[in-house]
Amino acid sequence: MTFDVLIVGGGFGGLISGAILANKGLKVKIFEKKNILGGRANSFEYKPGYIVDYGIHAIRFSKKGVIPTIFKKQFKQKLQIIDYGEGKLFMDNEWNDLPLSISAIQNTKLLNENEKEQLSQILAGALSIKLNDDLLNLSIKDWLKDKNLSKNTMKLITIITDLLCVSYNEIDKLSTGEFLDGIKKAINAGKGSSYPSGGWKFIIDELVKKIQDNGEIQTKSKIDKIIINNNKVEGVLINNDTIKAENIILAIPINDALSLIDNNLLPESLINMAKNTTPTCGISIDFGLKRKVSDIDGLITTYNPFTMSCFTSNLDPNVAPNNEQLFTILQPLPNSIINNKQETDKIIQNIYTMLNKMFPGFNENISWKRPIVMPVVDGSTVYTSTHRNKRISVKSPIDGLYFSGDSYNGPGIGGDIAHASALLCAQTILEDLNI
Ligand SMILES: Cc1cc2nc3c(=O)[nH]c(=O)nc-3n(C[C@H](O)[C@H](O)[C@H](O)COP(=O)(O)OP(=O)(O)OC[C@H]3O[C@@H](n4cnc5c(N)ncnc54)[C@H](O)[C@@H]3O)c2cc1C
Repeated sequence: MTFDVLIVGGGFGGLISGAILANKGLKVKIFEKKNILGGRANSFEYKPGYIVDYGIHAIRFSKKGVIPTIFKKQFKQKLQIIDYGEGKLFMDNEWNDLPLSISAIQNTKLLNENEKEQLSQILAGALSIKLNDDLLNLSIKDWLKDKNLSKNTMKLITIITDLLCVSYNEIDKLSTGEFLDGIKKAINAGKGSSYPSGGWKFIIDELVKKIQDNGEIQTKSKIDKIIINNNKVEGVLINNDTIKAENIILAIPINDALSLIDNNLLPESLINMAKNTTPTCGISIDFGLKRKVSDIDGLITTYNPFTMSCFTSNLDPNVAPNNEQLFTILQPLPNSIINNKQETDKIIQNIYTMLNKMFPGFNENISWKRPIVMPVVDGSTVYTSTHRNKRISVKSPIDGLYFSGDSYNGPGIGGDIAHASALLCAQTILEDLNI
């Protein structure tokens, strides 16, 4: 059988591009090296009755988010999503509501009246921004430096930034344009985040069905090389076999993609951009809890260290057995300590201690736990050096070779980069093929 498009990688980049192209009538084939699909957003029954995502996974901007919009516009399908409840902040051993909306800011006990006005103005100001290179290249720290913000206001801006950008107090590096664009989307959506009903597994299963309507997916199949001749793709090499195709999508992070291509065929500017790509890192721990420890159904954050967490089964009871709970926490970390086992072990222990303070009796109720040190959470940070206009285009300079996933130039933050790049990649191919 011949295929119009071969896709390397069965993560969200590959699955979304593949589903859109298959839906438009192209014959697609996906090769995934692992035995499960979903990549860094995989989701499966990890323990009996527990559907566990790969770390805390939310849909940014609720039904106006990239994935629900792709499902609505491309597949005419309404995704069932569940909005998070009120966000909570645990800081200085006390619980507070996390003021994530303008109305919540007006009611917070964390700020005085003057500070409430400061923070509201900063966030509401996002609505009138015009996203341009000046704003994308400006760090949040520099943008805020003349605004005379109080310590408390700065603290809350840092927490909101860390939550949106999966960072750890990095306002000196993060792009103001990307931050304000995210805030604008959240205000316009009226909601920050939501969760797919049935977990991310539901979305993966739906994308797989759409691909299989007009194509194939082959797991446990690692592509070894992309064959290129006269600046045009010819096919992929797998177990010494060549599979030919005129169009190939590399739906894997850029530095993995480069290991499959003869780099001498690529312009130096692309290689330099790839070297510049910086992933976000962190430690994630999932917990199965023997009984209900908390009824919080919103995102939970802590300050110093910044963490974000969620009782996922309070949102969707189908992801844990009856009367038990699924809880997941993520602590974003600097790249420099992620490979230092002594440091990461210490951080994991500190998280256990902190959780017991947040939820007395937490540790006694653990039936299983899954700590994972993650060298790549999101494929690209949204620093002033790695914002959307500084990432590699989904269309490569090689004829018929495209990229999809969260290290390319789709707009947005975190996983949204993967989903938006996948859409951009599919649209570019359809345009190139005059479909
Ligand atoms: C802990 C955590 C929390 C996150 N939270 C969120 C969130 O709340 N919201 C959100 O939107 N996003 C979130 N993300 C980010 C999101 O998961 C990623 O951006 C997205 O899954 C990346 O998809 P991708 O297809 O670009 O890459 P990947 O998921 O890395 O997919 C690439 C796939 O290619 C396969 N592959 C690699 N090399 C080969 C080869 N040679 N041959 C065949 N197959 C190959 C890999 O096995 C993998 O399955 C989070 C990520 C993590 C880790």
